[in-house]
Amino acid sequence: MKNWQKAGLAASALAGAMWMAAPVAASAGEVAAGTQTAGNDASRVSVRGAADLGRQTLPPNDGWAAYGGGTTGGAAATPDHVYVVHKRSELVKALENGSSTPKIIYVVGTIDANVDDHDQPLTDPEAYYAQGTGYSLESYLQAYDPATWGRDKVPSGDQEAARAQAEKNQAARVQFNVGSNTTIVGVGRDARIVGGNLVIGSNVENVIIRNIEFQDAIDYFPQWDPTDGDTGNWNSQFDNITIKGGSKDGSQKGASHIWIDHCTFDDGAHPDNEAPVYFGRPYEQHDGTVDITNGADYVTVSYSVFHDHDKTNLIGSTDKPTYDVNHLHVTFHHDLYYNIVQRMPRVRYGQVNVYNNLYIGAGEGSAYPLSYVFGVGVESAIYAQNNFFVLPHGFDPADLIHYWKGTAIHVEGSWVAQDGKMGPADLLALYNQKYPNQPLGSDVGWTPTLQTHVDPTVAVPALVLAKAGAGKVTSLAPQG
Ligand code: CA
Ligand code: CA
Repeated sequence: MKNWQKAGLAASALAGAMWMAAPVAASAGEVAAGTQTAGNDASRVSVRGAADLGRQTLPPNDGWAAYGGGTTGGAAATPDHVYVVHKRSELVKALENGSSTPKIIYVVGTIDANVDDHDQPLTDPEAYYAQGTGYSLESYLQAYDPATWGRDKVPSGDQEAARAQAEKNQAARVQFNVGSNTTIVGVGRDARIVGGNLVIGSNVENVIIRNIEFQDAIDYFPQWDPTDGDTGNWNSQFDNITIKGGSKDGSQKGASHIWIDHCTFDDGAHPDNEAPVYFGRPYEQHDGTVDITNGADYVTVSYSVFHDHDKTNLIGSTDKPTYDVNHLHVTFHHDLYYNIVQRMPRVRYGQVNVYNNLYIGAGEGSAYPLSYVFGVGVESAIYAQNNFFVLPHGFDPADLIHYWKGTAIHVEGSWVAQDGKMGPADLLALYNQKYPNQPLGSDVGWTPTLQTHVDPTVAVPALVLAKAGAGKVTSLAPQG
């Protein structure tokens, strides 16, 4: 590996990257964002002074969401379908029961999803949602203690039924179904949806979500599964954004043509290292950030930030060829991942282009120690280009790729920074050297064409730190 000075990367870029990895680094990119860079991509909108993001559409060729007719969201909305929302009840109303009438929703400030019918925060969410179900965590822990329940079957019976009902009650409050032809954008630099789960489901097409921070899609009712892995796991239901919807018999189409841009995703007030431990496993109250499953298709996730989270981007949720064959086309570009454990992304079936992303991993002993970046699942076809990895001391770059029963991954132009050095690295060669019994090929059978431009890897840290995330573009409230 080359010394970073020989490699010619500005020292400030790496310093910035390292700084960003620290939890106090919220303003790192803000400083850099003051410098306007000319570009022929979507980030061009990040001029000084706010634009009206609500009427903007995905640029041509900008990732898989540009396929076919592209993605326009609610840009064609008439004035009676343009909304400005400040709280949950207003968001629910603006979503028009998932109608496909073109609509634009401007989010102002923080929308808390875990609120009562009067938009007041719940003082005891567990008790509120569990009311009438008979569920209590204490009873649940008693019923499924491995010492008495054992470890070879998934919980069933009264307490599990009660838990599932309480979780359903919460879902009815925090899940928001988004219909076709919808744009949701944050106004200014501080729009947030806390505890919410946007669901883009069956037969929904053409959705744009931009400039919003999605925090803490907490599930108050995790399920114990002693059969998950060697030691069992607590699993939760809610993602920040769920893109899904295909049915087994093909009568329902998975959601398609979705553009997520300049958003931020994180665990907010409930970091994993503060979670209690039950049955020897952390009580995991989050699922994914953006998960794309069940035959969903044509998604672009650009200039977004994922941080302080475990299971981040799941593409395809089953090894069985149920919904996903020939679907799950996704592009991730110019995204920043820091303090993320795994799935950046984990892919089954899909053709997924992952380029110009910056990954900053945390070490053992931190709240979110890096496990792997690319999960190579069944029939996955990941095409990774010009990504930059900042790795903690002791992390083996061979483990950036993780085998999940796939056969190939294309990886080119990777750079690794670690222990004060940086330079190009052939991640697939390193992986194959370390894991000769689970070899991966490099031919994934396709080459991306839907790209506006691919930046040199050396430029990625500075570009991504300056531009990615909510608050890097701003929007005015609706014009006229
Ligand atoms: Ca509010
Ligand atoms: Ca999920």
